[in-house]
Amino acid sequence: MRLREIGAPDAARIAKREGQHKYDHGHVLVLGGPPAQGGAGRLAARAALRVGAGLVTLACPPAALAENAARLDAVMLRALEGTEDLERLLADRRLSALCLGPGLGLSDRERDLVAVALDAGRPTVLDADALTLVARERGLRQRLHPGCVLTPHMGEFRSLFPGTPNDEASRAEAVRAAAAETGAVILLKGAKTLVAGPEGLAVHAATGARGAPWLATAGAGDVLAGLIAGLLGRGLRGQEAAEAGAWLHVEAARIVGPGLIAEDLPEALPAVFRALG
Ligand code: AMP
Ligand code: MG
Repeated sequence: MRLREIGAPDAARIAKREGQHKYDHGHVLVLGGPPAQGGAGRLAARAALRVGAGLVTLACPPAALAENAARLDAVMLRALEGTEDLERLLADRRLSALCLGPGLGLSDRERDLVAVALDAGRPTVLDADALTLVARERGLRQRLHPGCVLTPHMGEFRSLFPGTPNDEASRAEAVRAAAAETGAVILLKGAKTLVAGPEGLAVHAATGARGAPWLATAGAGDVLAGLIAGLLGRGLRGQEAAEAGAWLHVEAARIVGPGLIAEDLPEALPAVFRALG
C-alpha cells in the first residue's frame, strides 16, 4: 500500500494575511468538561489559539467556569448546561470549527451535546471522550460527516473498529478502511501517526534520528485535537488540517525537547512558525 510521508505544511496556507481581522481567521468552539478533567479542554483551546484561530470559545459546565477563567485569558468562556445552550452557540454562523472530546465526559448530557454538534455539519474534530461516545452509540456514528476529523489512539481506534491487529501493515489498511467507511478523515496517533481521507494515506513518524519520543505524555493528544480544530477553523481542508497538525505537533515537541509536558506544546508554536518561514 502506498504511504505518503507528511512533510512541512505550506507556510502560505498557514500564515495570516495582511489586512484581515480576527473574524477572518476563524472562530473555534471547544466543548470543555467538568473541573476534575478541565485541563484537557484548556489545552485544546490554547492550541487552537496558538495555531492561529482568530477567536476561541471554551464552553463548559457552569461548575468549571471559575477555574477556566482563572487559567485562560484570551479564550472566551461560555456556560454550557445542555443542548439548548449549544444550539444557541451554534446559531453563530461565524463558528468555523468545533473540537469535541478532550475532558468532555461520558454521560447522557455529553452524548446529546455531541449529537447536536455533529448535526450542525461544521468542520469538527472528535477525540477522546467524543470517540468513546461514538463507539458506544450507533446514533452518533451515523451522524459522522465528511467535515469530521477523528483522532483516536490505538485503544480508541480499536473500540471504534474492533479486531484491528497491531502490526504496521494492518494498521495502515484499517485506517484507510475506516476513512472509507465513515467518510471522515481518520488520524491514528502513535509513534507513527497515520492519516487517511480523500487525499490518500499518509504517515508521520515521531521516531528515529529526528524523533520526539517525549511527545508520548499526558495531554499531548488534547493539544493535537486543538491544533487541528484551529487549522480547520482557519479554513484548511480536513485532511490538510490533520496532516499539518500532526507535523506541527511533532515539530513543537522537537523544539521543547526532553522534559516536555503538554502545556509546553502550544507555547512552542511561535518558534515552529519562525522556522517554517
Ligand atoms: P494521546 O494518546 O491522546 O494522549 O496522544 C498521545 C500523543 O503522543 C499523540 O500525538 C501520539 O502521536 C504521540 N505519541 C504516542 N506514542 C509516541 C511515541 N512513542 N513517540 C512519539 N510520539 C508518540
Ligand atoms: Mg487522548
